[in-house]
Amino acid sequence: VSLGEFELIDTYFRRPARHAALGVGDDCALLETPSGLQLAVSCDTLVAGRHFAPDADARSLGHKALAVNLSDLAACGARPSAFLLALTLPRVDEVFLAAFAQGLWALADLYAMDLIGGDTTSGPLSMTITVFGEVPRGQALLRSGARAGDDVWVSGTLGDARLALEAQRGRLSAATPALLDAARARLDRPSPRVALGQALRGVASAAVDVSDGLLADLGHVVEASSRAAGLRLGARIDAGALPLSEGVAALAPTWQLDCALAGGDDYELCFTAPAQLATAVEAAAGTAGVPVTRIGRIEAGGGVQVLQADGRRIEREFGGFDHFLS
Ligand code: ADP
Ligand code: MG
Repeated sequence: VSLGEFELIDTYFRRPARHAALGVGDDCALLETPSGLQLAVSCDTLVAGRHFAPDADARSLGHKALAVNLSDLAACGARPSAFLLALTLPRVDEVFLAAFAQGLWALADLYAMDLIGGDTTSGPLSMTITVFGEVPRGQALLRSGARAGDDVWVSGTLGDARLALEAQRGRLSAATPALLDAARARLDRPSPRVALGQALRGVASAAVDVSDGLLADLGHVVEASSRAAGLRLGARIDAGALPLSEGVAALAPTWQLDCALAGGDDYELCFTAPAQLATAVEAAAGTAGVPVTRIGRIEAGGGVQVLQADGRRIEREFGGFDHFLS
């Protein structure tokens, strides 16, 4: 059996940082600057046929390529400043390029980000963006800060992107065309929770963005926090508390859980905070204009468990997305 994506990284590419304040393993790396700010850096690739259909709308692609990277800055509570764009194109198609650039710049302008460089090559269509953001020293939200007793929160709604993807594959249909459109918008043009991430500095104890599925990404928080605390932590999620859009709520119960727990590509933030900071969490959400929902709790031991309303544990496996195992 092949190495998974994360084992592969751990085995060959994860070494202790010599200069960085934070290296491999979180949503962003952190580099010290002389100014009292830390530079948050992250990069993500979209590959044709893997992350998007070859005939995908170019404007949406421009948006999404930057949005998925902004989501990692959001997860660290960083303020976006600049990005690099590495583009691999099968041929020069100006209709494609104009639309792609339009989607890209619209989102970059929203955050006053500069495109400061990149690379352009010919080959199978793919796009890699590296983003840079700023965070006051020591204030970045990390995956490793969760403690037993902290509440687990999530922003927005979960599972919409998965609903759209399954509908695209013909495995699922939305209740109405309007609900399908809403789900498609989430898949094609995700809204990174940049303002929420910054508002949660000093409030959240840990954060991650939901790119691979809630259980998988919360699993990364539990793992990193266990490692940092030197003891085994777990999380208990209340299935009835999961925030669902109208489209996902209209699905059969098993699909609701599949989409909300294992669906990737939502780009919401999952974060933890001490229970006594619940009001501060609500205030941060209010500032950012994004709804947040308390969905569970961090516990000592036990892995990530999902409980139904009657307290029974849901025993189904909900693997997240892994490029080499999925
Ligand atoms: P995210 O989903 O937040 O972008 P990933 O799950 O892709 O993060 O990656 C997990 C961690 O491994 C991140 O810290 C990322 O920077 C790091 N990483 C991924 N690929 C490599 C690589 N080839 N070399 C070094 N670090 C990597
Ligand atoms: Mg991430």
